[in-house]
Amino acid sequence: MGSISNDISEGMWSDVCERAGAMLRRFYGYSEFRPLQLDIVCTAMERRDCVVLMPTGGGKSICYQIPALLSDGGVVIVVSPLIALMKDQVTALVSNGIPAAAVNSMQTDDENRHILNQLATGRIKILYISPERLLLELERWSRELPIALIAVDEAHCISQWGHDFRPDYTRLSRLKEVFPHVPIMALTATADRLTREDIASQLRLCEPRLFLGSFDRPNISLRVINNPGKSLRLSYISSLIDRYSHDSGIVYCISRRAAESMNVELKSRGYRSVVYHAGLSVAERNLAQESFINGDVQVVCATVAFGMGIDKSNIRWVVHNNMPRNIESYYQEIGRAGRDGVKAEATMFYSYADIATLRSFVDESGQQAINAEKLKRMQEYAESSLCRRRILLSYFNETMDHDCGNCDVCLNPPERMDGTVVALKAMSAIVRTGGKVGFSMLIDILRGASRQYIVDRGYHLIKTYGAGRDLSFAEWNSYLSQLIQLGLIDVAYNENNHLKLTAYGAEVLRDRKEVTIAKYKEPERRKSGRRSEAVVEMELKPAERLLALLKEVRVKLARKEQVPPYIVFSDKTLLEMVRTEPVDMETFARVEGVGEKKTVKYWKPFVMAIRKFKGIEQPLGAGLSHEETLLLLNAGYEVDEIAKTKGIKPKTVYSHITALIKEDKLSDFSSVITKEQYLRVMSVAKEEPDRIWEILSPEMPDGLINVALAISDYMLRNKDR
Ligand code: ADP
Ligand code: ZN
Repeated sequence: MGSISNDISEGMWSDVCERAGAMLRRFYGYSEFRPLQLDIVCTAMERRDCVVLMPTGGGKSICYQIPALLSDGGVVIVVSPLIALMKDQVTALVSNGIPAAAVNSMQTDDENRHILNQLATGRIKILYISPERLLLELERWSRELPIALIAVDEAHCISQWGHDFRPDYTRLSRLKEVFPHVPIMALTATADRLTREDIASQLRLCEPRLFLGSFDRPNISLRVINNPGKSLRLSYISSLIDRYSHDSGIVYCISRRAAESMNVELKSRGYRSVVYHAGLSVAERNLAQESFINGDVQVVCATVAFGMGIDKSNIRWVVHNNMPRNIESYYQEIGRAGRDGVKAEATMFYSYADIATLRSFVDESGQQAINAEKLKRMQEYAESSLCRRRILLSYFNETMDHDCGNCDVCLNPPERMDGTVVALKAMSAIVRTGGKVGFSMLIDILRGASRQYIVDRGYHLIKTYGAGRDLSFAEWNSYLSQLIQLGLIDVAYNENNHLKLTAYGAEVLRDRKEVTIAKYKEPERRKSGRRSEAVVEMELKPAERLLALLKEVRVKLARKEQVPPYIVFSDKTLLEMVRTEPVDMETFARVEGVGEKKTVKYWKPFVMAIRKFKGIEQPLGAGLSHEETLLLLNAGYEVDEIAKTKGIKPKTVYSHITALIKEDKLSDFSSVITKEQYLRVMSVAKEEPDRIWEILSPEMPDGLINVALAISDYMLRNKDR
């Protein structure tokens, strides 16, 4: 990646940087770019092609949205296959005051035509469009259409190497033929080197710059729980729901049936849960998805069918009730949590029964060798006693030179112990049962359980029966798993998962070799089950109480505007409010994640809630409505837009402006009145001062006449300065 300043003049470079930063603050309320974002924006402004690889939640959208705000009159076209996501993206942009629209098959022809007409007038800055529709329009669009940039999102869809190939995407090679001088930005969250090269060549990119973002998602904590029984699974999930009772999470299950039964279990415990899988009708799926997005439910029990096309930024936890089939899927699924950068939890339950099922999937699949290898890597991750994040990142060819400190291995490093006796007991029991028992039954035998099936088979008579009575089931569960991981014992997946000794195990047994294992630790169990709201309230710390209050404010606003809560503000922004406790409009405007439009629209309800929480009694000062108008004026909004944002009449906005001019608070009038309008008022005022209203009222709003007169006074007042 070369340095940009080599290619363009130093002056232009710093100018673009400065303006880009101003747009980021003004429209998004963010104070700084994330790594790579600014370089990517500048590359687009330089009109060069590029390929951008960043993980989900890495902040790709801003990379192509800011160029739209920087290029005068130019429009950014965003090609995306995820039609369901377009609406969400457009809503988010419009809520930040950026004119955007989408054209796709979910809208009527009339709607689409209307939008395309507006495109030509320059009233839309960002247009989302599906690939097939773009190809249709491409031939019709005049080559004069001022396209600043074409962004190809989910660009891996163009490659047969990718996991989500879409034939429509290959025809996007036409883009460069029709618009040879328009820069293309190809973006994706999943691409190995092969796919990456394929993207560039198929889109005919011209010497594209490559931007490789880190795939690390440090805010997601990682955890694997070995062989949990049903009750541990349920109590673990319950405790997550309790801890995040105002938020939502996902439980991924291996099959439709498993998802259904998990849903029933959680519902019976009083949780707000829904189920989602491909066996449901479209209407049922949409309903489930919507109630999840809007935060009406606490959890969705789903198969892997769930998640594509979901942009919800405040998913706080993901549980894999079963191990996924490869690390790519796993990383994509846990990546849906914590997109806002706030702390999130990913937990995987791992059992040998899953492996057997997953192996049968592999055997049925077309590419057995590759899939078997991928499953093996997934299993190694689950069984590892090294930092889990290091394993994940190294899988994606990214090196990390330190342990992460945010996975179960780092947080709870295994304590070593001599496991020789344990290993000998387990292995000799396997030998004495002829390698004909599975995991749980072996533990039962070792612990001397008096179950009927043990007696039926005469296992109560063998020498090792009851030899491991001193250890609990959970301890044996852990130790036996480790002996498997150490390669002493093998699970015969093709023989009902019976346990066998490996050659190495036989050697250890024969020579009484020493075995070291990790000491079992009791998992910390959190209280679960339903608690009354009042109790929860009392236990919360003040910060949490304020956060809960702000979430209530957010939900109310979202309902009123019929948008998902995270469109109003992300969790991260609410947390910033909790941290900074803004008590007036000015401090509210400075909160990270609060842009100008949202300041004016939302400051009151949030600030009121914070003031009430802090026990501040004196009322908010008067004249604030003028200040809001000033803020928007300074941000370049026009009178009609200000009126719409604030829900007042343009006439009122003019009266604010007049007052602001009289108070010397406004000195740039260019967005309020044109020079011609001003001169017109002045000439009538001079020649026919008595008939000024009569003459001008039909030509312009009364408010504007007042503004012109106030400006004239202002000029007189400031003449000498
Ligand atoms: P992606 O498209 O790569 O999955 P998004 O563009 O949706 O990711 O960004 C993920 C989240 O990060 C969004 O909530 C977005 O507003 C936020 N974000 C992006 N850039 C910044 C930034 N520079 N500062 C703070 N938050 C950011
Ligand atoms: Zn770690």
